[in-house]
Amino acid sequence: MEFFADWHTHSKYSDGKGTIAENAEAALAIGLSELAITDHGPGNIGTGVKDGGTYFQIIDEVRDVAKRYPGLTLKVGAEADITSSDGSIDIPREVWDKLDILIVGLHPYVVPASLEGLWSVVGINQLAGISRGVREKARISNTKALKEAVFRHEVDFISHPNLKMPVDISELSAACAASDTAIEINTGHHYDKDDIVRTAMKTGVNFVVCSDAHFPASIGELQEGAVVLEKFGVPEERVLNAVLKEKRFSRRNN
Ligand SMILES: [Zn+2]
Ligand SMILES: [Zn+2]
Repeated sequence: MEFFADWHTHSKYSDGKGTIAENAEAALAIGLSELAITDHGPGNIGTGVKDGGTYFQIIDEVRDVAKRYPGLTLKVGAEADITSSDGSIDIPREVWDKLDILIVGLHPYVVPASLEGLWSVVGINQLAGISRGVREKARISNTKALKEAVFRHEVDFISHPNLKMPVDISELSAACAASDTAIEINTGHHYDKDDIVRTAMKTGVNFVVCSDAHFPASIGELQEGAVVLEKFGVPEERVLNAVLKEKRFSRRNN
């Protein structure tokens, strides 16, 4: 399996180290034809963009940079944070409406939308190590939040489910399949991806493989995703950024 796009990368506008131009150059150098700059939402403490308006600045800069790299399709997205168990996110609709890609993910250190969010997103996950019971409560709350989010917003994919914050992959994938949202296999972090693919595969959900690169050098490092998807027999047709092999079209051409 090969990939034409990396749709989850960070730039200096959040906690990435590369400029948009440096990221674009890295994407071209590794042979990608498409790259998305998807900086953290403003609610991500210490690493998010300054405010929602920053995405409009990114759009302007990307438009400029894109002229220099005609071989590359450059897209602008956001990795929004869940801020409450009702599926609230830290980017308003008037902003994400203007973006090419909306990613939603759970992160442990966010400004909650409410007192409820302070407990259900931040508190309970901090305490999840205390006992199996608390961890289970966190898992139920995290799953509910993501499920609500995929139906409330037009989410393209969920970033790194099960990284640090536990979710029920079966329930989440079913909701994603029903709302036309993909599940990300994130090659930038170490966590158990076998179980995710094995479980999600059964629900009919689609996948994307992204690097979550915070350095230009990590952009397009997606091979680990191919290995795990192939291990469980996920067809290319269900991997949105996979290069579809020519043979799929050969019947039509003959
Ligand atoms: Zn993330
Ligand atoms: Zn990220």
